[in-house]
Amino acid sequence: MKNYSVTKIDTHTHTYFSFDAAENGNSPEKMCEEAVNKGLDAIIFTDHIEVNHEVEHAFPPLNIAEYKKQCAEAKKLYKGKLDVYTGVEMGQITHYPETAEEIAKTNDFDYIIGSVHNTKGEQDPYYVDFTKIPYDKIIYTIDKYFDEYLQLTYVPYIDQFAHLTYPLRYIKKAGIDIDITKWDSVIEQILKNIIKNGKVYELNSVYVRKNIILPEDHILQMYKDLGGKKIRLGSDAHYIEHVADGFAQAYELIDNIYKGEIK
Ligand SMILES: [Zn+2]
Ligand SMILES: [Zn+2]
Repeated sequence: MKNYSVTKIDTHTHTYFSFDAAENGNSPEKMCEEAVNKGLDAIIFTDHIEVNHEVEHAFPPLNIAEYKKQCAEAKKLYKGKLDVYTGVEMGQITHYPETAEEIAKTNDFDYIIGSVHNTKGEQDPYYVDFTKIPYDKIIYTIDKYFDEYLQLTYVPYIDQFAHLTYPLRYIKKAGIDIDITKWDSVIEQILKNIIKNGKVYELNSVYVRKNIILPEDHILQMYKDLGGKKIRLGSDAHYIEHVADGFAQAYELIDNIYKGEIK
């Protein structure tokens, strides 16, 4: 992949091929049109493959053949105007590592981002009302989350590590204050692995859109102090208008810490 300046590529986007965006009219072509309008040089499509869903048949699987076909058509249509990559966001890889590896190795995606949405035996925090959960269970949820995320950083075929603060979005939204420094040592190990393996740390700009204060600055500062330089922005758009959404503010956060070092 070429080098793009950080605000000129959206590395985390969903089209209507994702099970949670199927009704949103966000075809690859429409997403490209929006990306060009927003002044991007490149877009990476990263529709969901939730590995646990694939095995447990919880949701309809990604139609990989049709997805790739429509992405290829959009890529052709936008040649010279926008670079288009066909990737995937793989969730819960460590729940079924063999299935996950098989999917990754047989499909030749341009880019793979790795995520933890739900930990083993637990619900995706998206569906959880944290106002109804006892505080010690919330702490346990975060402990378990970072432990699984750490395991994820040992998976070699992942290019980019997505939304490290994912459950905190929903915990903070419930008005619960969390002191992230309690997890500094596990976060440090996660970041060290990302750096050592030459992988990309994703700053997911959803927090800007949802106006939630997450400890992104604390984590980015740690990443910088550990020598981390590879950062990419992802809007996590599930709607056309959200392509590259929040990038200006997210870049500001990066620049406050990196002082011009990351362009
Ligand atoms: Zn995700
Ligand atoms: Zn996503």
